[in-house]
Amino acid sequence: MLQGSFKEQFPKNYRPLITELEAFWNNDIYSLFKEFAEDILQKYDLRFGIPLWTERYGWTYRIGKSGVYLVKGIRIGKTGFIVDGLEIDTREKYPLLLAYIEEIYQQNKEEFRKKIADKNARQAERNKARIAREKQEFSSIQSDILLDKYNIYCWPEKLDINKLNKLYMLDAKGIHDEVLADEIGLTLYLRCKYGKEDMERMERYVIRCHGCGRELAGQADFRQCSCGRQYSYREYRRSFRRNNMPTGAAAHIFAAFIKQWDAARSYNEKIVLIDTLLHEFHLSLISGATHRPVAMNFIDGTRSHVEQIISNLAGNL
Ligand SMILES: [Zn+2]
Repeated sequence: MLQGSFKEQFPKNYRPLITELEAFWNNDIYSLFKEFAEDILQKYDLRFGIPLWTERYGWTYRIGKSGVYLVKGIRIGKTGFIVDGLEIDTREKYPLLLAYIEEIYQQNKEEFRKKIADKNARQAERNKARIAREKQEFSSIQSDILLDKYNIYCWPEKLDINKLNKLYMLDAKGIHDEVLADEIGLTLYLRCKYGKEDMERMERYVIRCHGCGRELAGQADFRQCSCGRQYSYREYRRSFRRNNMPTGAAAHIFAAFIKQWDAARSYNEKIVLIDTLLHEFHLSLISGATHRPVAMNFIDGTRSHVEQIISNLAGNL
């Protein structure tokens, strides 16, 4: 099949995902691009930002941190990607790119850090103003608020690590504890399902009451359910994030789990689904770089703590 140029294939109203770049490029270029994303993340904590549209080159890419960019205008061509005039179309050229990034990173390091610090300071100012505004709003509805009914959350529960370890330990001995596999799978399933559905609700400015399950719509931040519970829409969203409900860059992984779990019948199918899900990562949809493990959506703890738990599980079911 004859393919159009990058700009033709991905017009202004259609920003490419990393999976679509994979289809656009040959395998070598795609893996170089992903490797580049990983390398700058590991070495400099730099990430790909959201691509920018230009009339001349179509979507262009940029790398930076906290919304401050070190390199802009990275172009995509059929045979490679072009960083400040340097076209990376073979693996042989990749070391040149790394050397170039090292050079400009060192040259601009101080200025780059300062810009990020300034930006963070401005953000802190905005946060202060926001907190004051929210406090003001809160005091205006304070007489309606019942503290024991207000912003009481009950997100679907996370995994019990002892039970998870037990499932893997038994499995390694050849013992199939079907009840335990079902229990663990269901815990994952419910979090995936509510993560997806609650996110879809919140996109419509609707929340689900954690007391009775009713949907609470409206324009105002304050929501009162007929069961008596009360919520701030904003706080509800924040709680959803803080609880690490499954959503975001790995949403397609969670959606696939929901579908496959529904269809799974045998113990073996189920344990493979559980194991696969827990070993997945959130991948950047822009660059393919590996971010935090999906297991963090199901297990409490810091990234290194959760990684430790996952690597301690027998990974070869
Ligand atoms: Zn309710």
